[in-house]
Amino acid sequence: QAKEAGRNGWRRYEPGMGDRAAARRGMERDLRQALCEGGFALHYQPIFRNRSGALVGFEALLRWNLPDGRTVSPTDFIPLAEEIGLMPEIGAWVLREACRTAAGWPDHLSVAVNVSPTQLRSAAFLGSVEAALARTGLPASRLELEITETAILENRDTARDLLGRLRALGTLLALDDFGTGYSSLSFVHSFPLSRIKIDRSFVRELSENPQSTAIVRAVVGLARGLGLAVTAEGVETEAQRRLLAEEADLDIQGFLTGRPMPAGHLAAFLDASGGRATAA
Ligand code: C2E
Ligand code: MG
Ligand code: MG
Ligand code: MG
Repeated sequence: QAKEAGRNGWRRYEPGMGDRAAARRGMERDLRQALCEGGFALHYQPIFRNRSGALVGFEALLRWNLPDGRTVSPTDFIPLAEEIGLMPEIGAWVLREACRTAAGWPDHLSVAVNVSPTQLRSAAFLGSVEAALARTGLPASRLELEITETAILENRDTARDLLGRLRALGTLLALDDFGTGYSSLSFVHSFPLSRIKIDRSFVRELSENPQSTAIVRAVVGLARGLGLAVTAEGVETEAQRRLLAEEADLDIQGFLTGRPMPAGHLAAFLDASGGRATAA
């Protein structure tokens, strides 16, 4: 009954239908309910070492499952969850859930978890990382936290200290969507990062636009000089995969080698792939 009302309320007040305040209240209520009643789920997208085809881990990606079976994409609800202050709590759930799942994988596989700007700002964040690791027994070295430039810039005063503490715990730190923000070489250098993820907008244009190839080459050079690992996001075609392999031995993630899948599909995926990229 309650779920039914929540769903209808949310549909009735969809943005663009007039009463934005009511729409927000409806969606806010539904988000809180989802957090209490198991309405969130994580999907996992495989990441492979490009040249060898070896599976290296998965990125955990948040989904909101509505009672009627529809799935809401994170880009459609995370901004509101941020605004209403729910992201630290949702993020703590994501951390626990991702670490719990990854603890059951073969030892060499890591899990990447996205961290939002308000999470990074939250005083409870470091504690929620420690708690997730302690509760699940996942070694810190198998957890990679993905942070965007924006999140770092919005928390400039505290970010360096916090990231230093996270590295001291043993977690890895990746700069997500690299190239879409304002990062300069010195910016990247001044934070204790372990990886750069090249945004998929550059990968998409690889075969058509020589400038994209130049950008990828420059990022790989920068990363190598700073001792950072590199992942290329959004690899969709064999041509893109091959061009990347010619540049360097990076990690790749994209629809070509695997879409995000529900946790329940992972065992069969690991069995079937034998830990190798089928497309590579
Ligand atoms: P992201 O961290 O950059 O994640 C990669 C996104 O690209 C995912 O979208 C993934 O499904 C998509 N993707 C992967 N390969 C391909 C490809 O080959 N082609 C195309 N077109 N897309 C591809 P998704 O799952 O919709 O997530 C969108 C964004 O939402 C994420 O971008 C991340 O910023 C945010 N997000 C997702 N889960 C979480 C979470 O648990 N916490 C936080 N704070 N943010 C999250
Ligand atoms: Mg990410
Ligand atoms: Mg990304
Ligand atoms: Mg992205």
